[in-house]
Amino acid sequence: MIFEITILGSSSATPIYQRHPTAQVLNIHERFFLVDCGEGTLIQMNRFRIKFHRINHIFISHLHGDHYLGLMGLLSTMHLQGRATPLHIYAPNDLQEIIDIQLKYSQTTLRFEVILHPTDASKSKKIYEDEDIEVRTIILSHRIPCTGFLFSEKQRLRKLQKEKLHSYEVPVRFYDDLKNGKDYVDENGKVIPNSELTSDPRKPRSYAFCSDTIYNESIIPAVRNIDLLYHEATFMNDKIERAAETFHTTAAQAATIAKKADVKRLIVGHFSARYKNLYPLLDEAKEIFVNTSLAIEGDRFTIE
Ligand SMILES: [Zn+2]
Ligand SMILES: [Zn+2]
Repeated sequence: MIFEITILGSSSATPIYQRHPTAQVLNIHERFFLVDCGEGTLIQMNRFRIKFHRINHIFISHLHGDHYLGLMGLLSTMHLQGRATPLHIYAPNDLQEIIDIQLKYSQTTLRFEVILHPTDASKSKKIYEDEDIEVRTIILSHRIPCTGFLFSEKQRLRKLQKEKLHSYEVPVRFYDDLKNGKDYVDENGKVIPNSELTSDPRKPRSYAFCSDTIYNESIIPAVRNIDLLYHEATFMNDKIERAAETFHTTAAQAATIAKKADVKRLIVGHFSARYKNLYPLLDEAKEIFVNTSLAIEGDRFTIE
């Protein structure tokens, strides 16, 4: 089952040095989730061969333009290409007004339904759930209401050990109970412990997207021990005051969050236009948390 993140944009504020504002596509079990939709997202999807008609769920962290200005272009292209499938958007409630006014003045009625699920930047909530995956908001601290998103697989069922089932002659009708952890009691009343017949399922995988935010240790419990954390790193530590003034984070601070939360791997992004060369940011982060990567456009991060 695939769990993969593709970076489409990693620039803060403006497109520069071939870098585009924030956008990522997640492929989790062949469900495609778009996370933020900065200017140029559609072009980036074409460039990296992401089929945008497969996206049914879009998550927008906040209403600064570098995180959503690509959205109307995407909706418009979906409309022109005849999309009929409803599109779910998880975003601050005010996005509805922005979409409505653009459609009003272009006298457009979209051919598909857009369903806005308003996010609440004051409280972490589960905002999406299907049989395998759930998404929760992470409360970030930025100049305007802003949430991150935690994508997690649900706990899987226990794995049946076929040879053991055959040797104990367990009837098929008991398989579901075994997957849920129950012991097997045969027709003579003999108890076969569950652990004899099943093995542990794979640990659920998880990915957190945290952009934009001031350094804020209160997110640590939400991202503790996860497989992969994306955290903004707009500046380097010599601009730590500028970072605080603008409610952003430095590379060293992002790495500190990763270290304190004991995540397995960190991606940093949302780079300021002042950095043409990003390797000094990477070096700064790696001094604190070695397993750090830059969010380079087109790079894919797979959680095994
Ligand atoms: Zn931003
Ligand atoms: Zn912002």
